[in-house]
Amino acid sequence: MAQGDEERIINLDHGDPTMYENYWQKKGDETTIVIPGWQFMSYFSDATNLCWFLEPEFAKQIVRLHKVVGNAVTESRYIVVGTGSTQLYQAALYALSPNTDAEPISVVSAAPFYSSYPLITDCLKSGLYKWAGDARSFSKNGPYIELVTSPNNPDGFVRHSVVNRSEGILIHDLAYYWPQYTPISYPANYDLMLFTVSKSTGHAGMRIGWALVKDKEVAKKMTKYIEINTIGVSKDSQLRAAKVLKVISDSCEISNIEQDDSFFEFSYRLMAKRWKQLRQAVHQSGLFSVPDFPPQSCKFLRRVFEPQPAFAWLKCEGEIEDCESFLRGKKILTRGGKHFGFSPKYVRISMLDRDKNYDTFVERMSRIRS
Ligand code: PMP
Repeated sequence: MAQGDEERIINLDHGDPTMYENYWQKKGDETTIVIPGWQFMSYFSDATNLCWFLEPEFAKQIVRLHKVVGNAVTESRYIVVGTGSTQLYQAALYALSPNTDAEPISVVSAAPFYSSYPLITDCLKSGLYKWAGDARSFSKNGPYIELVTSPNNPDGFVRHSVVNRSEGILIHDLAYYWPQYTPISYPANYDLMLFTVSKSTGHAGMRIGWALVKDKEVAKKMTKYIEINTIGVSKDSQLRAAKVLKVISDSCEISNIEQDDSFFEFSYRLMAKRWKQLRQAVHQSGLFSVPDFPPQSCKFLRRVFEPQPAFAWLKCEGEIEDCESFLRGKKILTRGGKHFGFSPKYVRISMLDRDKNYDTFVERMSRIRS
């Protein structure tokens, strides 16, 4: 253990994907882009496209990557780019809300749900939509919007809608439907799917996400929302994202899938290593538990494996009621279950931090006793 590690605060509250830095560092200049000052100055990217601020090269690389990985259908879909999938979530709420009704439409998701959903949904106290909590206990009649996050943040399980009524409108948040986290069993084929570079490539700072949208009117309204909100999305970021996606697709197609050069092979192995370390630490400590996942076959990596989510949904077994405070006492910062509409006996822990932090964390966990 390095000197001072005992005292160091380990912050695993946010899902900041810094573990990917090593891969991109090894790639060196392959993803470097240079943009002269006189280029890409206009608001417009392609005035003939429904999403007029979408860079054509970025759209091309999105379609290519989904084809390479096989995780989503892109045929007969409109692509809408957003400043992170966070903006696209808001655009989707705007587009899907029937603004004829007197009452705002209910927005639900099965607990534990991503902690930002209620905050984003209600921050402006919209007259169009309103957070209505856990989808499992939702019993109001009439139309509603259900968010299906699969694999789920925070617990990593594959999910399907739970309300299942005819008046339901679904948003599928597929931020983690990539082979380093979960077996890719089929190309997702839903009406409105959200993706982000934050969790797929690790470039959270680019603030780029994309939506695959079946319905033309919904795609148009989402585009309108982004026009009103930010008059489009940074072209610099889209071009950088296009380059990163291209390098990933190249790394999967050119290299033998067994080699570390493949982005998904590299990240799959790192996640597998980290989950093994965590399960050992949890076992050694005896105070905690983490979910077990059934193994499934991944069509992309061509192997059977257990999901290895971007977050660990850790439960304090025994008498500890507030797991977040307990771990804070051990200088480990996590996000408590209540933020996700769940019990405070649980915490969410980011698995995506830099090696040094992650290794200190598991080492510290393994030594925690009651
Ligand atoms: N959806 C889910 C399920 C997430 O976990 C996150 C990031 N934590 C987001 C959306 C937001 O992603 P972005 O950085 O693209 O706004």
